[in-house]
Amino acid sequence: MISPGTLYVVATPIGNLADLSPRARETLAAVDAVCAEDTRHTRQLLAAFGLERPLVALHEHNEAEFAARLIARLRAGESLALVSDAGTPLVSDPGYRLVREARAAGLRVSPLPGACAAIAALSVAGVPSDRFCFEGFLPAKSSARRERLQQLARETRTLVFYESSHRIEESLADMAVVFGGAREAVLARELSKLFETVLGDTLGELTAKVAADENQRKGEFVLIVRGCEDDAAARLAEGQRLYAKLGEYLKPSQAAKLAAELSGAPRKALYGGEAGQD
Ligand code: SAM
Repeated sequence: MISPGTLYVVATPIGNLADLSPRARETLAAVDAVCAEDTRHTRQLLAAFGLERPLVALHEHNEAEFAARLIARLRAGESLALVSDAGTPLVSDPGYRLVREARAAGLRVSPLPGACAAIAALSVAGVPSDRFCFEGFLPAKSSARRERLQQLARETRTLVFYESSHRIEESLADMAVVFGGAREAVLARELSKLFETVLGDTLGELTAKVAADENQRKGEFVLIVRGCEDDAAARLAEGQRLYAKLGEYLKPSQAAKLAAELSGAPRKALYGGEAGQD
């Protein structure tokens, strides 16, 4: 049952078409138009269910501009659906501005829950999942990626990343360096598809497995990394991050003193006990 003037945020499958819910299908069949990240992709999805609806392209480059027009259509009483190429819109996908503006305009925004790769991966990872940090995609450049990972090295909650086939090997290797090769991780590949694989191991072992087997670098990935468990290790990781950053502006001994103070890590562990010699 469709309500006029409502924006329906509809989750679509992440691989297996049978994961589209009956309610999502009914809604997509009944709305006045479907706002889609890639209209060709969504046209095919709709066709697979015997549906054909007017489509509006809504991607990160035109979202700000199109949102106002779509809000006007909703205000005029039309009902619209928002979908992305796969999974739940707004989760590492466009839609945030439209949803925000629709809510700010007092319009009804209603979710149709369904597949989300991060949650699907978490549900089979077997790592603590009552609290977790969704980090989405890491930066593409290695230096920026390592810096981001340094910022997360102390995080005690489980970490959830999205990654593409182009960078999975590099990202795993960087994580093994920054978080330590012994940290537990789970690599969930091609969930709900033919080559679904869920590998659990240490970051060091996972990096080696993925480097050694080309097939393990194919497809789409969610990488789940267990949070930092050891408080002393967490303090040391934060101390090292601060020491490296402060070292850009201060003498090593000063950087070590300040980094130790701020992080709680022992100063000697940051500066090899040579404080005062520079
Ligand atoms: N909105 C989507 C969701 O709800 O999961 C995510 C969109 S994001 C642009 C695409 C990324 O999600 C992929 O690069 C991959 O990291 C992850 N992903 C999507 N489908 C997946 C699948 N079937 N198996 C593993 N990861 C997947």
